[in-house]
Amino acid sequence: MLPDLDRLIRLQRLDNASVEARRTIEAIPTRMAELDAQLDASRKKVDEAKQRLDDQKQVRQAVEKVLAETQAKLSRFKEQLMAVKTNKEYTAVQHEIATAEAHANKLEDDIIEHMVQADELTEEVKSTEQVEQKDRSEIELARTKLEIERAEIEQQLAGTSSEREKLASDLSEATLRLFDSIAGQRQGLAVVEARDGHCTVCNVRLRPQVFNQILLNTGLVRCDSCMRILYHDPNNTHHKLSTGDTTK
Ligand SMILES: [Zn+2]
Repeated sequence: MLPDLDRLIRLQRLDNASVEARRTIEAIPTRMAELDAQLDASRKKVDEAKQRLDDQKQVRQAVEKVLAETQAKLSRFKEQLMAVKTNKEYTAVQHEIATAEAHANKLEDDIIEHMVQADELTEEVKSTEQVEQKDRSEIELARTKLEIERAEIEQQLAGTSSEREKLASDLSEATLRLFDSIAGQRQGLAVVEARDGHCTVCNVRLRPQVFNQILLNTGLVRCDSCMRILYHDPNNTHHKLSTGDTTK
């Protein structure tokens, strides 16, 4: 293989790896934000459960207050009963007592119901807290993994960068300039494989004599359509000399 073509292929692979690595690094903040959002959602469930418990407690306290008032009223009625002078008054106060007692009983039942609900809501707070705790540790682990991944990729990028420098310095100036010029116009992709008689990037079908030349890997042959430098990878299948037959 032409030494410069071999270097160009390796240079392109390094660039591709760098692009991929940078893309992964750039996606990390989004992945972190997704983890934070997951944790927020889980925390929100705890807050909501606590709020329901708190609301319920306030309702119960309001009922307890009414019960206390009703019981105070009942005591007053019972005192009045001692002081009544007539039968009619006696009957009237008795009636008030009966009404107040019925009301107090009803309120006591309500309070018991509220207490049962409070137990259920307390359980709900506990279970949402457990879920949150579990989510938190999982998310912290995932964040740590992402940080490690970032550090590894950055290290890899640094290695790629020095390797690339060395490779570029070994290339002839004209070849390097050609690479940079094509890469600049073609989203960083200057050297691509030709396979089965086609450019693998723009997919154009190459003239048979052009493809046969590429199969030799002895020169810098460019795609007629996208102008990229083409090479043949002998490790890939379907690399018999082109006869113009398009069957794969
Ligand atoms: Zn092409």
